[in-house]
Amino acid sequence: MDWQQLKEEIIAYSRTIGIDKIGFAAPDPFTEMKNRLIRQQELGYQSGFEEKDIEKRVDPSLIFEEPRSIISIALAYPSKMKNAPRSKRGDRRGIFCRASWGTDYHVVLKDRLDKLEQFIKEKVPDAVCRSMVDTGELVDRAVAERAGIGWSGKNCSIITPEFGSYVYLGEMITNLPLEPDEPMEEQCGECTKCLDVCPTGALVGPGQLNAQRCIAFLTQTKGFLPDEFRDKIGNRLYGCDTCQTVCPKNKGKDFHLHEEMEPDPEIAKPRLLPLLSISNREFKEKFGHISGAWRGKKPIQRNAILALAHYKEEAAVWELINVMRSDERPVIRGTAAWALGKIGGNEAYEALLEAKEREKDPDVLAEIVKGLAFFEAE
Ligand code: SF4
Ligand code: SF4
Repeated sequence: MDWQQLKEEIIAYSRTIGIDKIGFAAPDPFTEMKNRLIRQQELGYQSGFEEKDIEKRVDPSLIFEEPRSIISIALAYPSKMKNAPRSKRGDRRGIFCRASWGTDYHVVLKDRLDKLEQFIKEKVPDAVCRSMVDTGELVDRAVAERAGIGWSGKNCSIITPEFGSYVYLGEMITNLPLEPDEPMEEQCGECTKCLDVCPTGALVGPGQLNAQRCIAFLTQTKGFLPDEFRDKIGNRLYGCDTCQTVCPKNKGKDFHLHEEMEPDPEIAKPRLLPLLSISNREFKEKFGHISGAWRGKKPIQRNAILALAHYKEEAAVWELINVMRSDERPVIRGTAAWALGKIGGNEAYEALLEAKEREKDPDVLAEIVKGLAFFEAE
């Protein structure tokens, strides 16, 4: 078998199925990454969503028998929404991060990886391949970095010269000895923009993220959002793009190469108020196909309430009172109480006083007290 020729055929084929960049890496253990992950774990900087077993994350041979190469792929996603509706007083809107626009990228990338696997198996019938996107054991970014897809930016994203950091990553481990590519030189230079603008100080150093402080992670949690982050979340319903949008390497990068990734503005930038009373079925119908829905509707609703508080949206007061009085979920009732205090006004005050007498859940009661404290501070 002429492996170099196969590699070239794989590259050529990948272009025909909508893979925007492809690279090849050796399957050696990611030793440097291992030390970094251990440090992250010791510092409590991990999100908790990642594979728990660090050994599996850094050593391809523990999850694949005799790996010979890893193919890394990248698909560029849009950074600008056409016809984005405006968020205005009385009709406020939230925002899903760019990586959650259009069809769930896990589905899109899996489609491309499946096609690639099929192609490889036609050429080499005894090829063994194992693909993963995001939820697999390996760290997509580490593989992409080694495969020369891009460099690892100080904002922890992989930055490609062609598409900036607006790329989805996936990989395939194979038993084929495909020649590895060279990693790319780091090109952040003296820039520190992402570290400077991160609203929560989650980028604790160049390329070092404390996920517990990162809004992208915090928007996905299901409990009460810790107080210190409630004013920082803005109108974000899911994810955070700030350290990418400020990156000079992303300037002018806006690619619309995949129909599936085009955002529906009513989904990617939805009205906030209707989210408060959306049923499970409606939520699934409207948002079920996007990656930002993977944790269900509760975190999105909690974030929508915080976004209404951020806007001090008076038009939402009655709906928030309704939620505080009758929603079954303490996190939602309590967040609504806090938001009512933040927005203010007589109706909100009276409703909080009344709720304080009636509410039994201690966590919700604590939020009601916090809500009332906003009035005392005035
Ligand atoms: Fe900071 Fe947002 Fe980037 Fe997280 S995603 S590091 S919160 S700017
Ligand atoms: Fe690198 Fe600057 Fe982009 Fe941060 S903002 S990733 S430092 S180029």
